[in-house]
This record gives sequence, C-alpha cells and structure tokens, in this order.
Amino acid sequence: MRSRRESGGPHAVKVRFDRELLEAAYLAAGPSDDPDRDDLYEIRNDRERDEAFGAHHARWFRKAGFEAALLGAFAEWPRIGASCEEAVLRRVRNPADEFAELFRDPEGLARVGVGLRASRLTDGSFLPFLRHEFCHLDDMFDPAFGYPSEIPRDASPSGQIRRERYRLLWDLRVDARLSRRFPECPNFARALEQHRRDFDRAFSFMEASEREALYLQASGDPPPTHARLWEVAGDPRHLRERAFGEAPGAACPLCGFSTFHWAALDLREAVAPAVQSEFPNWRPEHGCCARCAEVYEAMRTAAIPATVLLPARG
Ligand SMILES: [Zn+2]
Ligand SMILES: [Zn+2]
Repeated sequence: MRSRRESGGPHAVKVRFDRELLEAAYLAAGPSDDPDRDDLYEIRNDRERDEAFGAHHARWFRKAGFEAALLGAFAEWPRIGASCEEAVLRRVRNPADEFAELFRDPEGLARVGVGLRASRLTDGSFLPFLRHEFCHLDDMFDPAFGYPSEIPRDASPSGQIRRERYRLLWDLRVDARLSRRFPECPNFARALEQHRRDFDRAFSFMEASEREALYLQASGDPPPTHARLWEVAGDPRHLRERAFGEAPGAACPLCGFSTFHWAALDLREAVAPAVQSEFPNWRPEHGCCARCAEVYEAMRTAAIPATVLLPARG
C-alpha cells in the first residue's frame, strides 16, 4: 500500500510517498513512546493492521513536517510540476540506487521515480540531493536544453568514454546552475570543485587554455545545450593517446566490470555476430572479458538472450 498525497495547485505534481520510506523515517525520528501505535498491534487482520500502521506513519510524517519539506523541494521546480503527472519517492538502502528517473508512457505522460535513503530525511541532506536530481529533470523538460528522447547505445570503449564525459559535463552544468541559484548552500560549490578535478583529468588531452575555455562554457550562464555537451564529450582526440581494451583491470566494454582475463582474439571473432546482435557497434578489437566471451559463446547454441545471463550492466 502506498499513501497518496496531493500537493495542490494548478500545475503541482502528484507526489506519492512509498510506505517503506514513511516507516523508516518514523523508526529513525519518531517518538520513542507512542501508545497509539502500540495499540495497532492488537488488530488481528494482517491487511488492516498493515494499513493502520501505514496511516499512522503517514500522519506522523505530515505532522513532523517531512511531507511539506519534500513537497517544497518539488515546488522549487515548476517545470517538473507542469510536465509531470506523478512522482513517487521510494526508500532505497544503497547510495548507488539514489537517483531520480523519468518514465514516459506511450501516451507521452511523464512520471518521476526518486530513490531516497531514509537517513537523508533525518540528517537534512535530502534537499541538496533533490535539488541536484530535480535540476537534471528540469533540464530534460527544458526545450532550450534539447535533451533527446534517447541517448545512442554504443558499447565500444570510446562510446563508453563519451557517455562518462557527458555525465560529468552535465553534472558540472547542473551544479554550476545550482550554486548560482542557491549560493547559501555550500554543497554545490563543493561538488563543483570535485567536478573541476574530474574535468581536468577527463580532458587532459587538451591544451590548458582550451580546457579552461571549455570549463567556463560548461559551467557558465547561459548554460550550454545538450547538443553542445554531447559534441564535446565525443571529442575523438583521446583515441590517439589511449590503447583500449586489454589493460589488466580495465573495464570490459560489454559488462562494464573490471577484468584481468581478456578473451583471446580468435574467440572474440567467433562470438562477434552474437555480441553485435546486442551491441551493434562492438568490434572484436574492442576486447571483452573471458566471462562475456563464454556467455556469448553459449548463446551461439542456446536461444537465451545473453542479457539474462550477464550481470547487470553499470
Ligand atoms: Zn547528476
Ligand atoms: Zn565482460
């Protein structure tokens, strides 16, 4: 069961809070003595008892001000409210699962899902976290940014590098925008310093003056468009400087996991058609780990899609 709360207003997005998030917040910050809640254990019917606990946590969540604080975080981004049907905040446990995602159904309705650790509610870090995620979403809804409906999937190492660089440039753009908009919040300036270090490393093939100009453009106002960031991220000059594929501990371009066991060239050539049915841009010279080669080799005789056998791709 999930509790539904509407934030009101003509363009406000409907925000739902996942029941687990309410419960975790209650357990972390609720009262140590709560006789009304203790009484709920007396309810015999499992479903009714669950619903009563859910309603109790939701009431507490509202009274403690968390609901208003989270709706306030949405209200800072009117474009999300105007473009989105509904948003669901759900509890996640792992920091890697904390992010906002945009879903569009076939009729073009947009929904947002946000994974949030419950500790962010009690330590207050939910606000800078949500601002960062919502700024990405705001960009995606902004025609001036021009975010495409799909980013091409290119499994080659240079395709991976392009996506990594793009993510870095977009983060840089987001945190620069946020540090201008919320100068009182130190998180964004700190994040920018880290992006600057990553940026200098990622674009080390450029002359210092060229890199500086690019940094100013990416972090500047007006902020660059998606097309510009994508173009910069695909700068091919690094290709001359780097040998791909076979370095010990480097990431396999197919599964993304670091490997010390690269598949031999003859095996890669043998599995190439199977790999290319999923990754059209992959070539045997891009390399792949021995485990992936094994999986695609097995696929030549079985009709199971390899993605079922492979570990989740990062
Ligand atoms: Zn980001
Ligand atoms: Zn692999």
